Amino acid sequence: MVNKLVTFKFIYNFILLLTNSFMEILATPYFRTISRHGVGEVRRKLSNGQNHFFAARSFKPGDVIADFSAGTISAEPTYLTIQVGTRRHITLDPEFLQYINHDCDPNVFFNTTAMQVVALKHISPDDEMTFFYPSAEWEMAHPFDCYCGSPRCLGKIRGAAYLSPIVQSQYRFTDFIQQQLAKRASRKKVA
Ligand SMILES: [Zn+2]
Repeated sequence: MVNKLVTFKFIYNFILLLTNSFMEILATPYFRTISRHGVGEVRRKLSNGQNHFFAARSFKPGDVIADFSAGTISAEPTYLTIQVGTRRHITLDPEFLQYINHDCDPNVFFNTTAMQVVALKHISPDDEMTFFYPSAEWEMAHPFDCYCGSPRCLGKIRGAAYLSPIVQSQYRFTDFIQQQLAKRASRKKVA
């Protein structure tokens, strides 16, 4: 009888241990919050250490999410800069805006004329904010293969200079990129 009770207790504890471990795995966050910034927060993806920016509240299309200015200005692009003109690439101030990553189906836009980040569509709290890198980059310093998972995913992201006219018509571009596209289109007409 005592033996049976010990066996029962052992099995009971073992199941409890398994359940607790399982619950712990379920409760383990996929992201960890790194910093909070009013309109949103930077969260680090635990699987690869990459930072992402998530909304802290909702926004309507056209809402201004943040004003920004140039932290630094350089002639060459880096993976941290955004293009504002020919050989003019700025780092973002406030810095947390650099964690707004690329997506082929973006929900925000960097207006480099008004120097504002604006919502392109409805954004809910906890939605990740993303923008379309070629909307502000003519030729990217670091082209990459995109795995955003959107049905609109373009695959290779290299900059606005490499987009077909059909793809161009589906996105909003900064004034600078629009000028570049118009310049190139008029050159082609002449040729
Ligand atoms: Zn994509």
